[in-house]
Amino acid sequence: MSEGDEGNFKKPKKGAAGLPAVVASLKHVFGKDGVVRGTKALMGLNQAGGFDCPSCAWPDPDRDRSFAEFCENGAKAVASEAMKRTIGKEFFAEHSVADLMAQTDAWHDEQGRLAEPMVLWEGASHYEPITWDAAFGILAEELRALPSPDQAIFYTSGRASNEAAFLYQLFVRAYGTNNLPDCSNMCHESSGLALKEAIGVGKGTVTMDDFLEAEVILCVGQNPGTNHPRMLSTLEDAVKKGAKLVAINPLKEAGLLGFAHPQHLTGLLGRATALSSTYLQVKVNGDLALFRGLAKALLAAGAEDSDFLKEHTVSYGEYRSLVEATPWPEIEALSGIARADIEKLAGLMAAGGKRVITCWAMGLTQHRNAVATIREIANVHLILGAVGRPGAGLCPVRGHSNVQGDRTVGIFEKMPESFLAALEKQAGVTIPRQHGFDTVNSILAMHEGKAKVFFALGGNFAQATPDSAFTAAALRKCRLTCHVSTKLNRSHLIPGRRALILPCLGRSEQDEGRFVSTENSMGIVQSSEGKLEPAAEDLLSEVDIVALMAETVIGDVGNIRWGWLAEDYDRIRTWIEAVVPGFDNYNERVRQAGGFYLPNAAKERRWNTPDGKAHFSVATMDAFKVQPGRFLLQTLRSHDQFNTTVYGLNDRYRGISGMRDIVFVNPEDLAALGIKPGERIDVTSHWDDGERHLRGFRAIPYEMPRGMAAAYFPEANVLVPVGHVAEGSNTPASKSIEVSLMPANAERKESAGRGAFSKAKEGSVIS
Ligand code: SF4
Repeated sequence: MSEGDEGNFKKPKKGAAGLPAVVASLKHVFGKDGVVRGTKALMGLNQAGGFDCPSCAWPDPDRDRSFAEFCENGAKAVASEAMKRTIGKEFFAEHSVADLMAQTDAWHDEQGRLAEPMVLWEGASHYEPITWDAAFGILAEELRALPSPDQAIFYTSGRASNEAAFLYQLFVRAYGTNNLPDCSNMCHESSGLALKEAIGVGKGTVTMDDFLEAEVILCVGQNPGTNHPRMLSTLEDAVKKGAKLVAINPLKEAGLLGFAHPQHLTGLLGRATALSSTYLQVKVNGDLALFRGLAKALLAAGAEDSDFLKEHTVSYGEYRSLVEATPWPEIEALSGIARADIEKLAGLMAAGGKRVITCWAMGLTQHRNAVATIREIANVHLILGAVGRPGAGLCPVRGHSNVQGDRTVGIFEKMPESFLAALEKQAGVTIPRQHGFDTVNSILAMHEGKAKVFFALGGNFAQATPDSAFTAAALRKCRLTCHVSTKLNRSHLIPGRRALILPCLGRSEQDEGRFVSTENSMGIVQSSEGKLEPAAEDLLSEVDIVALMAETVIGDVGNIRWGWLAEDYDRIRTWIEAVVPGFDNYNERVRQAGGFYLPNAAKERRWNTPDGKAHFSVATMDAFKVQPGRFLLQTLRSHDQFNTTVYGLNDRYRGISGMRDIVFVNPEDLAALGIKPGERIDVTSHWDDGERHLRGFRAIPYEMPRGMAAAYFPEANVLVPVGHVAEGSNTPASKSIEVSLMPANAERKESAGRGAFSKAKEGSVIS
């Protein structure tokens, strides 16, 4: 580390949570919200009758919730949302857009809650206050002026509740377009597509109880210690009941090695339960080959469930031939895992009742061949008959609290005809049938000038998306950008010709006695009612913002009375019940403690595929290849981050403190490059359309297969071209980036720490 460089790195941890997690949680909560408001927030978090965590989508226990039913990152998420400090006209008068752009993402999050609607007029340097009515007036003016509704983009982040999301999609479709991109396009779209094709439902098939009955649990391309921390309690319970946890991940992650339960004395004293009994450090994007190897070993061992295969599946024969024809050396080369280790794992999976659960996250979904890889996992489960029975199944773990719920109630650019027809009948208005733009196509449409108005219900679009400079340019081409947000973020600072920021209530805040609902990774729909006083008087709920916008832009149409629906969320739920299957007696069941499970046919071995069977896939086994001397880089999160929200500059489990402008590299690779630990390097990604750069980041040695590298997003998103996507799902392939690593160029040393475009110690790269 050179003179003046802040931040530090040391040996990574061998276990997660424990007392440090408690200390970090309380520091964030009491530091940002104060003791009284902070305590009230934590007491309502994930409690029956309380509010759902605005962070990830790991479920609450079906029974016996703990008094502290949250993890460190849930506490950080609530601390960030429940801040007492607010920012309004004075703050924006003091800080120009350019000043704010020079600040870090962590600084943005620390500034406080947005308190009043703000507008950035054309050519202005500072945001100014505006009334709600005037803001909706601008939206109506711009949306009505568009030659076609398809020139407007309506983005959704996974924090939107079922009620807000349903009303939003109803407005967007009544307005006349299906341009409903969402954050799912960038995360589990590949899972949804693969599972829909294989087993007829785009969701996981297990419950929390299944984990307690499982014999083998595979955690693939997932870092639960940071991204789904309460999952560690479930994994600990399963391991203590005899399950074997197998971690499959290029990086050694503390949360997969051990867990010190912070609500157990032993855990507080630092004694961690060992979690994974097998740790396979697969190559980045080597998972398809690994699961092909598992299939090969299982079939060679005669572990297939013949009765299940005969009764429930098709294309087994083709798949079996493909597997038998796949040579082991190729499997070993692409996966980076030895045949013996694969066969050993297959032996484990085939033993006993074959009660196997496979969990995964972005480490699988953000690759070109992501859909094929997830289909391969489904193939292995079909061979074992490990779907639709206790202790067995498929578990994509969602990263955002209601991303699954939003999709269920209509946030999707290509909803099925059955949904559109039911919506049309209920609403009494014509619903468009032409599929809309997903996230990547929305960026392209804005860049090409085909879309001119961008509206976001939550989220931080400019930071979450790939090709940061290209996306920024696309947003700037819009006539209007408008963001419904709780906190300041970088997307606000990349305005169209005019821009609006509409401040909304947080999930933790009271909403005039109304409550919303969300759906977690296991298909449980439950109520969420805020407990805290709103941070500011002039905030509106997401539902009210959508209803008022709709009233102003298109007015009441057909059977739709926006104000009436928003007045009482039971009315919106009644509409959801009428349009979306599985929500019978919605208002009654959502009030039950713990809510209710949505139906999932695959759990009952009923396959909603065109022929009513579960399908094997026969994909070509491949992996992303890089030129000799180059590296395969993946983007990832730090422990002080939730999606694009940065709570701080530490990544405790990986031994990082006070910095984010870093690249993790195998120590032997660094030595081979003649780069010292901590030395500044330039990262260049290589594509058909040219190169992209991340300059002056620090090289941090980290245990992973040779030839691999990793860096945090959003900083590293600048390296990923918008067109680099997963086949079929169009999800940005941010986990497969071909890069070269060089010592930071001397003459560019003075600009150390800069991304391709601007400087910020933390490495935010959009200007
Ligand atoms: S595990 Fe996820 S949902 Fe649960 S408290 Fe932590 S961040 Fe929130």
